Amino acid sequence: MDYASKVIDKEECKNLKVVFSNKLNGVNGTCYPFLRTIIYCDGYMRLNRNNIDAITYTVVEECAHLVRLPHDEIFYKVCCDLGCDVSSPPKGIKYYWKYFKQCKKCGNEKYYNRKPHNKLCKKCGSESTIFFGKVNE
Ligand SMILES: [Zn+2]
Ligand SMILES: [Zn+2]
Repeated sequence: MDYASKVIDKEECKNLKVVFSNKLNGVNGTCYPFLRTIIYCDGYMRLNRNNIDAITYTVVEECAHLVRLPHDEIFYKVCCDLGCDVSSPPKGIKYYWKYFKQCKKCGNEKYYNRKPHNKLCKKCGSESTIFFGKVNE
C-alpha cells in the first residue's frame, strides 16, 4: 500500500483539523487519526520557528500518524516518502515546557508542565529556583 500518497490524497486531507495548543507542553505534537486531528504544541512551534528542520520533522511526523500510528518500520518509511527522515531528531530542536526548576547548589534541572510544589533538589536536597516558560534541547 502506498501510505504516503494516502496522506496527501485530497480526500484524506479534507476533514483534517489542525490545532495549536498551549496545553501540550514538553512534546512537539500529537495526532488523533480517528478524529482526523493533529495538535501541535504552540510553544514548540514558536520556539523552533527559525529551525525549518525542526518544523518539517514535526509536521511530517504527525501527518504520517494519520495513516500509521505505531513508530514502526512502515511509519518511518511513510515519513521518508513524505520528505523527512524522522528516525533521528534534527539538530538544535527545542522543547517547550511551562515550568523549570533549577537547583541553586548543584544546578540540577527538571522540567514540568504544572508548577512544581516541591522546591527541593532530588539530587542533593538543596533548594531550587522555579522559573516560568523555560526551554530545553
Ligand atoms: Zn509520533
Ligand atoms: Zn541540587
